[in-house]
Amino acid sequence: PGRVGVLALQGDVREHVAVLESLGAEVSLVRGPAQLAEVDGLVLPGGESSVIDKLARLFGLREPIIERIGSGLPVFGTCAGLILLADRIIDGLPTQLPFGGMDVDVRRNAFGSQVDSFESMLDVPQLGEPPVHATFIRAPVVERVGEGVRVLARVDDRVVAVEQGVLLGTSFHPEVDGETRFHRRFLEHVAHVSGS
Ligand code: GLN
Repeated sequence: PGRVGVLALQGDVREHVAVLESLGAEVSLVRGPAQLAEVDGLVLPGGESSVIDKLARLFGLREPIIERIGSGLPVFGTCAGLILLADRIIDGLPTQLPFGGMDVDVRRNAFGSQVDSFESMLDVPQLGEPPVHATFIRAPVVERVGEGVRVLARVDDRVVAVEQGVLLGTSFHPEVDGETRFHRRFLEHVAHVSGS
């Protein structure tokens, strides 16, 4: 594929870089508009979505990211990254904004304070066998799924992985679990779009 970027303002950037490089991708850290302009795909890491939003505005990245998503940039968001990809955030901080692009509503910290983190095995038919070992850390859930959005995984009845065209999002963190199939899927989107 082409060159892919990891938004490197806050969060688990290093883990995503490691997975992408293990899959043979050329990876850049994106901290400003010039770096964004050079990538054919973007990962939005886990971390704290309100902080990433704030820093993206500060570094002049918010508008360029929205523009690139609007013109078909493949994006993969995990946890905070999924929150940033959603068109609407429920229970966000008062000033917090998403980049948007995915026709979903996502609730922050949706599993409640009594369960800060947990692990689960998920069946993801689009990824085949074996099931996905998923780690949830103060994880969001997708509460509304728009028409063009495909649900990839659920925990009980709650939607935790979604895809809309070349946009991919998970409530959990494949990058910390040695799970490479979501990143592969993202790189397939990138290869497809960049025609390489
Ligand atoms: N709760 C965090 C947020 O609102 C997300 C947690 C995570 O990325 N592990 O951004």
